[in-house]
Amino acid sequence: MVPPPWPNPPMKVQIGRGIAGRCPACGESPLFASYLRVVVACPSCKAPLGQLRSDDAPAYVTILIVGHIVVGLLVLMETTLVPPLWLEAAILLPLTLVLALALLPLVKGGILAVMLRIGMIRPPQ
Ligand SMILES: [Zn+2]
Repeated sequence: MVPPPWPNPPMKVQIGRGIAGRCPACGESPLFASYLRVVVACPSCKAPLGQLRSDDAPAYVTILIVGHIVVGLLVLMETTLVPPLWLEAAILLPLTLVLALALLPLVKGGILAVMLRIGMIRPPQ
């Protein structure tokens, strides 16, 4: 297999850079042009970040993480404090929204990093 023309550090380095919102290959430039829009290519190392199509994977992983946190808290609250339903909703619904919106770019960055590392690059059609 021919190595890519951009830097190719170890997987955990790339995942860390992706989670931090930096180019997984070089870490020099931002990975996102806006909240979830990926830059076309890294301006520093020319890695084709815009050709990484993560589709729904970041949303699935984010739901998995947030679901475990929120349902765990719900079960904990129901077994210990037994608060009224309105109080549970007032705490857990905003928490769910904030966690999902906060984790989605981090998870997407990590998934894009894995995709770049293993060569899951889809050229434009
Ligand atoms: Zn780069």
